[in-house]
Parts: sequence; structure tokens; C-alpha cells
Amino acid sequence: MVAAHDGKVLLCGDTVRGVSLAVSYFTEHFVSGEGIAMPEKLEVICAYDRAANTGAPLREEELAEEERAGALYLDGRKLEGFSPDTDRYTVELEYGVPCPEVTAGAYSPRASVTVENVTGTTDGVARISVTAASGAVRTYEVAFRHLDHYTVSAKMEKARGGAGGIISLVHDDGDLATVRWLQERFTAYSEEYGVDLSVMIALIANRVYRQDPAQPYVFDPDCVIQEQADAWRELLESPYFSLGCHSYTHGNWGQTDSDGLMTREIVSAGQMLRDIFGLPVLTFVYPGFAEVPGEERYNELSMSYIARNYLAARFLTSGKVNPIGAGTDFVRVLAHGAYSGQAGLDAQLARIDEAVNGGWGVLFFHTVIPEQTAVQNITVDYAYMEQLFLYLIPYLQDGRLWCAPFEEAAKYVWEYEHSHVQAVGYADRIEVSLLLNEDAAFPEGSALDTAVLDCSVTVRVALPDGMTEPVCGGTALSCFSEEGVRYVYVDVAVGQTVTITQGV
Ligand SMILES: [Zn+2]
Repeated sequence: MVAAHDGKVLLCGDTVRGVSLAVSYFTEHFVSGEGIAMPEKLEVICAYDRAANTGAPLREEELAEEERAGALYLDGRKLEGFSPDTDRYTVELEYGVPCPEVTAGAYSPRASVTVENVTGTTDGVARISVTAASGAVRTYEVAFRHLDHYTVSAKMEKARGGAGGIISLVHDDGDLATVRWLQERFTAYSEEYGVDLSVMIALIANRVYRQDPAQPYVFDPDCVIQEQADAWRELLESPYFSLGCHSYTHGNWGQTDSDGLMTREIVSAGQMLRDIFGLPVLTFVYPGFAEVPGEERYNELSMSYIARNYLAARFLTSGKVNPIGAGTDFVRVLAHGAYSGQAGLDAQLARIDEAVNGGWGVLFFHTVIPEQTAVQNITVDYAYMEQLFLYLIPYLQDGRLWCAPFEEAAKYVWEYEHSHVQAVGYADRIEVSLLLNEDAAFPEGSALDTAVLDCSVTVRVALPDGMTEPVCGGTALSCFSEEGVRYVYVDVAVGQTVTITQGV
């Protein structure tokens, strides 16, 4: 029995430093011919770790079978479930993991121990022999069995491609001249800077569809405003634009308690856009309306309609970015609106700077005109928008930000916050899956199904040493190193498994 000088009884596996023990103890146990050496530290591996170790001396019956082991250790850690009376153990190891070194302590201080270890990454059996003073020997065996797989370290990144954050640009209401100008600018930027900007058009549905509001909505081709719909369809075919719903009329309906009005403004408006353009239209954009001092613009009813019918909704000007992974309020996605004048521009540029650190910045703007004269107006001019875009472009060029359509960003962030990665390595491959968490669900009564979550999330995967030229789906992956570990990025959608193999 060993006690520290504060009287605490030490158990198997304990380590003490600055040891001072009674010389009689050393005389009994530690003298090895060269005299007594005072160890700097003492590892207690001899005493049998009894559950209720009282510090009392070993009893007679405990000393009866001296050839028993007192404890087994695998690379210095106690073997779970060890009992002196059990001789055979099986330990499962992951594929590729070397068999640990076995050490053992005898139950009795008078017994001696020898260990025959196994090494390497294949199965094997370590043998531990305990010899009592009487010469009686007892042999214990620890069989190491390897699994066919191993756990791979992998984690989701907050933005596609490992970018630091996300920027989503939103054009409110739907002004054809503005979006045509954007298309011209974005085409030029793509050629000049090699990056693609992207804007979601939050369209007021009655700009493309008019139907008797007294009737429940059923798609009627005669109600489509064909010329407008064709113009928007053509723009939406461009890679730069995507579509969201900005209500039916943009009228002051946020405080109503009329289910009929909510249905038309929120539910039917989205369906009109889907029916006309054949796009999913999974996101909503709150009309700002005119502010009523002291009153919220939206009541519980209108917000519950939005929550049940859309994956996400861009809220009003907030001055903030959404921290990805912090439990985003998808019915109130924070956003920052454009206002003419330097202060308005500076505020939007500040959101870009903030998004780099794990944020989802949403910037919205209305009509863009050639030249602005009035300040503090929601209309901005070409120069304003060009400064915004040219400020953003370097962030996209070096991969610090991902410019994502609002709908795709909403899916990405939703998946990031509601799923987990499973990465398993085998002899010849690594399989990476993205799985929805068990408690992941849309709000009660949601019209959406989790099947809409088809957005790939970027996962950082740590590579084993042997995988020097990783390939995924026939494409070579580029590796990068951090703190001595090599990684690759793979994009994985919810429910999907991608396989990384070693290229030839
Ligand atoms: Zn609007």
C-alpha cells in the first residue's frame, strides 16, 4: 500500500511527483543492489485497484494466489474491465492502429511479471505471465483484433470551398432595368476578375401575375403578364440570378389578422412564381412597408405563415451579419439595406468585412439608377453598386468569401446547423457522409420537406499518410496542410456519401 505524504491513498495508475517515502518502504521494494534511489516520480502500478480501497493492508485471502495480476495497462492506460480472476481479453482496434504495448503489475508485491508484447498493425495476442514466490505461474492473454475501418477526422466548413463566410446579395421588388444593368456588369466582372457575382431577385408577384384577389389561387395562364414574365425568365436563365418571393402586392399586410390576406400575400404569391418560372422559390423577403412609429411591422400570424411556407426569410435592415452555426433564426435572417450616400455604402462594406469571420452577410438593394442626386434614399446609383461589387470581388478571388444565392446560402447554413459528418476510412478509401441530425425538422406545420435540402456542404477531411494523391469522383483533390495534418475539401449533400480514393 502506498500513500502520499498528505495521507491520500494512491491507486493503480496514479502518479506522484516529489516523492518522499519511508526508507523502510524502499528497503522492502526498491533496493536493487546500487543503493536507494529517490525517484523524481513514482508510478503506482503494483497495488490492485480495489473499488473500495481503504488503505488497509492486503488481507490473507488476497495474498493467497500470488500469481495473479493486479492490473493491466495498454500504452499506460488501464485495461477496462480487468479482473485478476479473468485470464482472456479481446481488445478491438481500428484499422491501421498499432497494437499497444501491454504492461502489468502483480497483485502481490512478492510476485514478478513478464510480458510478451505484439507489435504492428495486424492482429496478435500479448501474453502476460505472473510468477509467484512459490513458482506458480498464471498467464493472461490480451488478443488484439482489428476492425476493417477507422475513424477519419472530418468537419463541415461554414462556407462553400472553405471560405470564411458567405455574402448574399438581394435585389428587392424587381426592376428590369436594374437587373439588366447587373447582368452587364457581372458579365464584365466575370471576364475581368474571374469571379461570378450572384443576386437573388425578390420579385413582387403581381409584377408578373394578376388575378381576382377574391378568388382562391389556382394557376391561370391568362393571368400571367406575359411580357414581364418573359423578360424575367430570360434573366433568370443567366447564372447570376435566382428567385425569391417578395409577397403578392407589397401592401401593408404585416399586421393583419386575415388568413385570406396572409394566404394570398405569402403562400399563393410563392406558388405563382413557382408556376410561372418552374423554380423552387424557397425563400421569402419581407416587404419593408412604411414604418408605423412604435409598432412592429409584422405580427405573429404573418410571421408564422412565412415560417411554415419558406425555408428562410430575409428580414429588415439590422446592421448585422448572421453568425453561422449560432442557431440562425431562419424566419428573421438579418440583412442590411442599401441607402444612397457614403454612410450607407460604408455600412454595407462593414458587413462584408464582418462576414469573413464565420458570418452570413445579406445585403439588399432596390432600384439602381445611373446617377443619384438625393441622399438617404433607398434608390442607389451605379457608382454606389460598383464600389460595393469591387470591394467584394477581392474577397471572392482569394476565397475568403462565398457569394451565394440567398436560397442556396439558406440551405447551406440550415444544413450546417442541423447535420453532422460521418467519415470512415477503409484500406483503400475514405467514405464521407452528411447526415441530418435526428432532431432536425422544419417548424410544425411546414409545407416544406427536408428533401429540399440538396445543397452540398464543404467538408474538411484529414488524410492518412498513405493517401498521397486523393481522388474523388474521378477528380484529383488538392491537399493543404495545417499543423502537420494534410486535408482535402469535398462537397457532400445531405444523405449523400462521397468516396475518396488514392489516385494512381
Ligand atoms: Zn420591397
